[in-house]
Amino acid sequence: SVVPVFRHAQRFSDRIALRDRHGDYTYRGIFLSSRQFAGEISSYLGGKKQERVAFLCPNDASYIIAQWACWMSGQIAVPMAVDHPPPVREYYISNSEASLVVTTPEYVDALQHVVVKSGARLLILDEALRVLAMKVAPKSTLLPSKPEPSPWDEDQPLEGGLDPQFYSDSDAMIIYTSGTTGPPKGAVITHANIHAQISSLVEAWGWTEKDIVLHTLPLHHIHGIVNVLMCPLAVGGRCVMLPKFEAARVWSYLLAINMPANERVNVFMAVPTIYMKLVEEYDHIFTKNARMQEYIRTVCTHKIRLMVSGSSPLPSPLFQRWEEITGHRLLERYGMTETGMVLSNPLNGVRKPGYVGTPLPGVQAQIARTSENQNYEILVEGSAGGGTTTPSTKYTSGELRVKGPNVFKGYWKNPKATREVFTEDGWLKTGDTACYDDGAYKILGRTSVDIIKTGGYKVSAVEIETHLLGHPDIIDCSVIGLPDITWGQKVAAVVVPKTGKEIILSKLREWSKERMAPYAIPTVLKVVEKLPKNTMGKVNKRELLKAVFP
Ligand code: ATP
Ligand code: MG
Repeated sequence: SVVPVFRHAQRFSDRIALRDRHGDYTYRGIFLSSRQFAGEISSYLGGKKQERVAFLCPNDASYIIAQWACWMSGQIAVPMAVDHPPPVREYYISNSEASLVVTTPEYVDALQHVVVKSGARLLILDEALRVLAMKVAPKSTLLPSKPEPSPWDEDQPLEGGLDPQFYSDSDAMIIYTSGTTGPPKGAVITHANIHAQISSLVEAWGWTEKDIVLHTLPLHHIHGIVNVLMCPLAVGGRCVMLPKFEAARVWSYLLAINMPANERVNVFMAVPTIYMKLVEEYDHIFTKNARMQEYIRTVCTHKIRLMVSGSSPLPSPLFQRWEEITGHRLLERYGMTETGMVLSNPLNGVRKPGYVGTPLPGVQAQIARTSENQNYEILVEGSAGGGTTTPSTKYTSGELRVKGPNVFKGYWKNPKATREVFTEDGWLKTGDTACYDDGAYKILGRTSVDIIKTGGYKVSAVEIETHLLGHPDIIDCSVIGLPDITWGQKVAAVVVPKTGKEIILSKLREWSKERMAPYAIPTVLKVVEKLPKNTMGKVNKRELLKAVFP
């Protein structure tokens, strides 16, 4: 049966669930505050269920309270990000048809106008609720002489008397996709989806109550919400939440000098851009300090059990550099808003750079190639338990498709997009091109922008980017296909040189000759100071194209 995360909380009552910039919170504290707030939401909505409640909270306990309260009162949570510009928030609120917008006092001014315009109502999650949660300290070790009926009782119905069955077939949240290939789409995620996604990751990545994860990601995206926040809370672990990512602070948390063993973080999850910035910071601070470098390697190797990367491709040069610095081979995984996590490298076993591993428990994956007559041919199919069929033809790359209890229900109020994303037999089409090779899947990129067709060849922009990032003078890059009369498309590289370095096309082409196929070598070069990236560190290539090659 489906158990929402806040229900698990009751088993871990006195354990510390969260440490934020204000202090520590027990599971019980967060549960009790959430339940109180759920009562306020219910009365605001006159007892209605499955209303959309958009919420904007800082990355601290108030975020969890708002989210759990939505779920306890039977509503659909629509998380918004603190770093989103007003038009994006406006889009989330109006598109989801939110009837209520929840926020903490500091964002009231920023939201008031949008809320009034949308016709929703505004409900403030008062600071007092967060403080209340923090004040619920672990109970004393002395047992009460006679057991008293406590509100902390699993059998006690939640606000509105929701029974467990409610969670088996109701919607939990609408998460908007990153908007990398078009306007963000609202993905409706059910409680059953979240439950399946968490169970799968707990099994595959070995989450336990001993884990303390460092959370530095935005909280409007599946990565930050499910992988890094809900997983530890579902098993009685702890989440150390920073208001936002800052390289120096993250290093100090990872190293945790002078911190008791049972309080230091041992799990870290991030996107490639974050690892890139951590390497930059390392180079900035520790380059000339061999003893410190040795120390960092030792601490990271022995005290941290797992470091994960995902949400966009992890270039092999970065994978290798991170291993040199920390001794950790990053566990790269692949997922999307619509499906949660799909493919993952093993917790124990070989992690091949550039590959995203195999299907997670409970998830089925296939690679299919559509032929001219619109039939498709399955090249590879497999699941965590079941074997993977070997490619039947010489074509090993095709569209990655996904099935399983993790896969979302559909796009909010968009039946057309929902119809288009599923095949007739129920596979979700990811829009990504993948191949399978020597026991692992590899993501070649988004079919629409990363698969460049040039002179009859299909080349992967992601693979070219990986090569270019191996160049000693390039710090970041993005490869795009430009329309070309002769070649169909030509390969264009947009690169960010390292400080004080110069990149010119002729030399770059010379350097590339030994490393890539002739048709993959960029014929157009644009040097920029910085790549435009969204809050998840993703480059929107359509926008980049317009900005750089107008
Ligand atoms: P939109 O759907 O609005 O265009 P988006 O696809 O970027 O945005 P998300 O759901 O956040 O929105 O991202 C999922 C996508 O991220 C995947 O389809 C894939 O292209 C990419 N991705 C995720 N993990 C990886 C990975 N490990 N390697 C390569 N690509 C990845
Ligand atoms: Mg997408």
